[in-house]
Amino acid sequence: MLDLIVIGGGPVGAMAGNLAGRARLTAVVLDRAPAVFDLPRAIHFDAHIMRILQQTGLAGELLPDVRVWKRSTFYGADGEPIRVHDWPSDRPYGWDAHYLFYQPKLEAVLRAGLARFDDVDLRLGVEAVAVEQHDDHVTVTIRDPASGEVSTLSARYLIGADGAASFVRTSSGIRLVDGDFDEPWLVVDLSCAREIGRPDESEMFCDPTRPATRVPGPGRHHRWEFMLLPGETPEELQRPERIRDLLAPWVGMDEVEIIRASVYRFHSLIAESWRRGRVFLAGDAAHQTPPFLGQGLCHGLRDVQNLVGKVAAVQAGGPGGPLLDSYEAERRPHVERIIGMAVAAGREICVLDPAEAHERDARMRRAARSGELPRTTFQGMPPLTGGLFADTPGAGELFPQPAVFDREERLGMFDDVLPPRVVVVARGDAVSEIRAVADRSGVPLVAVDDPGTGHLVIRDELVGDWFTRHGARFAVVRPDRYVHGTTDSAEAATAMIRAACTYFPCSG
Ligand SMILES: Cc1cc2nc3c(=O)[nH]c(=O)nc-3n(C[C@H](O)[C@H](O)[C@H](O)COP(=O)(O)OP(=O)(O)OC[C@H]3O[C@@H](n4cnc5c(N)ncnc54)[C@H](O)[C@@H]3O)c2cc1C
Repeated sequence: MLDLIVIGGGPVGAMAGNLAGRARLTAVVLDRAPAVFDLPRAIHFDAHIMRILQQTGLAGELLPDVRVWKRSTFYGADGEPIRVHDWPSDRPYGWDAHYLFYQPKLEAVLRAGLARFDDVDLRLGVEAVAVEQHDDHVTVTIRDPASGEVSTLSARYLIGADGAASFVRTSSGIRLVDGDFDEPWLVVDLSCAREIGRPDESEMFCDPTRPATRVPGPGRHHRWEFMLLPGETPEELQRPERIRDLLAPWVGMDEVEIIRASVYRFHSLIAESWRRGRVFLAGDAAHQTPPFLGQGLCHGLRDVQNLVGKVAAVQAGGPGGPLLDSYEAERRPHVERIIGMAVAAGREICVLDPAEAHERDARMRRAARSGELPRTTFQGMPPLTGGLFADTPGAGELFPQPAVFDREERLGMFDDVLPPRVVVVARGDAVSEIRAVADRSGVPLVAVDDPGTGHLVIRDELVGDWFTRHGARFAVVRPDRYVHGTTDSAEAATAMIRAACTYFPCSG
């Protein structure tokens, strides 16, 4: 029997398959579409997503086809800036803060990546038509629409990564809860040989006569988004002459090729539950967000990183109950909070009343002058809460990704050097206090600011500052590189290693 069936081979399902392959699980990823959906939807992902791609061995494949995104400028009703976000350049997670990408390219890279694993099978052109749960497994009925052939597959667990209209969600009787935000926007993707505006900068036009966005994609890809005004219909705004008029301030129709111009509803919806027994929801099947922070796909990729790691831990002997319950416990509050931030951003942007827009612009300019800009960057992302984390400072945060050295020799980045297991990081003298426990538990030990006696060493001010900020000398880091907990006591660190190794079995 398989470990895992993934219904849906979009970006989230294909990532789940790659993570399953890396974790040596046996899995089938199936999709009813014979090929990658060839129109771009997501255009942005953040440093954490590049880090997950790195962990699956695919960052290098995608890197030539992304654009580093450095700045976002918001313009007010008078056309002058009201807010400028310069993304930090300190790369605490080992990657730039934000990237712009072409979704069909990412999906192609993810699907091609599946071919690296003998135990992961990608089946295209087959549709899941029934899901049946049993005590110790789940069975999926699949149908090949071309031949009409019907067959079944069984696995210990199933992930429904089958998108917004999820069959897995509806057939499990799980409702979507409406987050009370729903605005239609026209999304225009085009190909243009010349740069438009600054290449690494996006623009948000908070103009009450027509809120709009311009984002430079990688290469020749450019995107505009225009809010529909009351009374306008999708059919009307999708007409070529309307599109030409909307784009006229930036680009002429004779110099571009339109890839797609469609109206999307920017809405917020979350499934009331993300699990029924052995069946889990991930990605758009579990939640949908207005794309003002460019986080919908990022949520889905974080979902499957969390979930597949836990399925692997269960298969390695970890306790199924707490591990599998912690998927929704950890992911849902994170997704809800970021959707809340996206809705708040959307409410600021979608203002159509001139007086309200004027008041918003004045408020944002005041905030910019006082340095109180709302944190909408990745660095402002909340930590995970709930679930399996210890109740300490820094728990639930993503651990930084510094370079790791063996004495003077640079071995590589943290995630490339350390195996995907529990790791303990200790600062200065603390190393000698935990060495015996780490060795006994089979947990790799990394020293911060210690020239080392045969230890892996981090020499990065950012990491030293991170320990200082949390008043810690020890950090216990999970296989997914979230911090299980921090402490300044060797005794507490020992207990944390034991707890983390109970959930994520450590060899030794
Ligand atoms: C205009 C727009 C802009 C966006 N911008 C961003 C952004 O900048 N950043 C960001 O992170 N996100 C963004 N998003 C969101 C992002 O595009 C989605 O969150 C993401 O594509 C969802 O991926 P998924 O794999 O969950 O679902 P999907 O991509 O919908 O994939 C689901 C797959 O399941 C398959 N399937 C469905 N039912 C079955 C079945 N019964 N049997 C077999 N296969 C089945 C489908 O064929 C499909 O391939 C944006 C979305 C839109 C619309």
